[in-house]
Amino acid sequence: MSKPTATHYEVIVIGAGVAGIYQIKRLVDLGVDATVLEMSADLGGTWYNNRYPGARFDSESYTYGYSFSRELLDEWHWREAYSSQPENLKYLNFVADKFNLRPYMQFNCRVESAHFDEDADLWRLHVSDGRDLTCRFLALGLGLLSQPTLPRIEGREDFQGPAFHTYYWPHEGIDLKGKRVGIIGTGATAIQVIGAIAPEVGSLHVFQRRANWAAPLNNYEISAEKMAEIRARYDEIFETCKRTPGGFEHEPDRRGFYEVSREERIKLWDRLYDEPGFGIWLQNFREIFTDEEANAEFSEYIAERIRRRVKDPVTAEKLVPRDHGFGVQRVPLETNYYEAYNLDHVHLVDVAETPIERITARGIKTTAQEYEFDVIVYATGFDAITGAFDHIDIQGVGGEKLRDKWRDGPQTYLGMFIHGFPNLLMPAGPQSGSASTNYPRGIETGVDWCTEFMQYVWANGYTRAEATAAAEARWTRHVEKMYSTMLMRKAKSWFTGYNSNVEGHEAGKIRYFVYNGGSPKYVSTINMVAEQGYEGIELTGAPEPQQAARSGG
Ligand code: NAP
Repeated sequence: MSKPTATHYEVIVIGAGVAGIYQIKRLVDLGVDATVLEMSADLGGTWYNNRYPGARFDSESYTYGYSFSRELLDEWHWREAYSSQPENLKYLNFVADKFNLRPYMQFNCRVESAHFDEDADLWRLHVSDGRDLTCRFLALGLGLLSQPTLPRIEGREDFQGPAFHTYYWPHEGIDLKGKRVGIIGTGATAIQVIGAIAPEVGSLHVFQRRANWAAPLNNYEISAEKMAEIRARYDEIFETCKRTPGGFEHEPDRRGFYEVSREERIKLWDRLYDEPGFGIWLQNFREIFTDEEANAEFSEYIAERIRRRVKDPVTAEKLVPRDHGFGVQRVPLETNYYEAYNLDHVHLVDVAETPIERITARGIKTTAQEYEFDVIVYATGFDAITGAFDHIDIQGVGGEKLRDKWRDGPQTYLGMFIHGFPNLLMPAGPQSGSASTNYPRGIETGVDWCTEFMQYVWANGYTRAEATAAAEARWTRHVEKMYSTMLMRKAKSWFTGYNSNVEGHEAGKIRYFVYNGGSPKYVSTINMVAEQGYEGIELTGAPEPQQAARSGG
């Protein structure tokens, strides 16, 4: 399809994922001249790219979908409680088509640079297809886990068979029946892949560096009757999501861990382990996240569940994490993950014990032996949160580079603004309410807030909006402080900016990526900022309301 000839837009949105789709919907409804630039060949973001077997929500499907349109809620039937990637992509396409959003999206457009023009109060973008575009507002929906990272292991190019990161699972699929497969990683992605492919492959070797706590997803199909029931409850469901810290239906157990007997605690955990979804993590006692002793007791409970499911005691012990407790890293939800290790052709290779030396033409060589494979899968994670930002040359006032400013971690105001980078909005940015909660719930809040903010700017004829240095420092300190009570600060995970495959992100320095105050507190804070006339944001430019720049669309 030929690209539009326009070179200026009031708003350019980067990314046609869950955030970008809703952001453009809001702008189109307002008649704002806006477009989305997406580097992939089509929309969907994470659900366009992650096509590995087993990829599915681990939020309840009906709490993950958009809530903004009653009609949409009435028309879409979620087939499973935790819907799979193909269905999720179908859903996002359904949304885009229903609201006629495709004409406002441009694909195969990678934004290479975005520089702020201080004289004109505009962003100047250079796109991979050679075009130069300008916009007043730049809204970034880049995705928080959209920059995959490959392991820094020698010899990756030597392997003769197919080898790929899970994010780049071949779109045409790959037949793994009877194949010898090696997979590196045991994060949420690997845990989904392993459960899904174990029964069909010829052999599977899982290269585990650190074990990861996981709990059952307990997925189920949603019948027409059940869907009707969900539809009737949608208002109540979304109200609950607004009220809970994680933006889910799961509400934390408000009783004190030490106020109830051990028998009572076990009773709760037995129930939660068998229930669908994140309840085991989010309906638990709050001390699990902050109190070493409480966390250790609960972790031991989960370890016992693992031992009950894995027949070989040596393998079972290797699958029990030793370096962190349950729930201080993002908890993967699994389907038949532990049972996979009961299959004779599935093997766990402990690479903490026998490290990988190199990838060879035939497979993976550890200090103990060389393993031969037909296919190698890298489930090795992402340059999380700031990775996608770092890959665009974003320059603000005085040519300051965002990747320099954020070298030691993000600094933001409300997770939506960056001092020195005027007119740049992050509806779902680092340190916002999105990253640590049910993502789309946070996204809708962020997009609505940013849209209303732009309307305010337009209505008052301002041309430049920038968070003050003081407001940014205050917010960043606030986000940092919330980590201080959380056990998660001690874990090597993307929540704290750890990634052994990204220079400077090896363990050691915490990056304060996510807002841990919970969704209700975040929403009340940003709403208060708006009510106080956007306190902390400096607005300049001649007030000319009649020129409020909503030029068609
Ligand atoms: P991840 O959690 O960062 O896991 C990466 C895995 O690769 C870890 O086990 C890591 O080991 C291992 N690894 C990396 N480099 C290695 C190396 N050089 N040698 C050996 N092992 C290596 O990444 P992910 O599994 O892709 O998950 C990332 C996030 O995506 C999740 O936390 C979740 O938020 C999201 N996700 C969501 C869903 C969903 O919603 N349904 C599904 C999948 C993922 P170490 O632990 O030792 O570093």
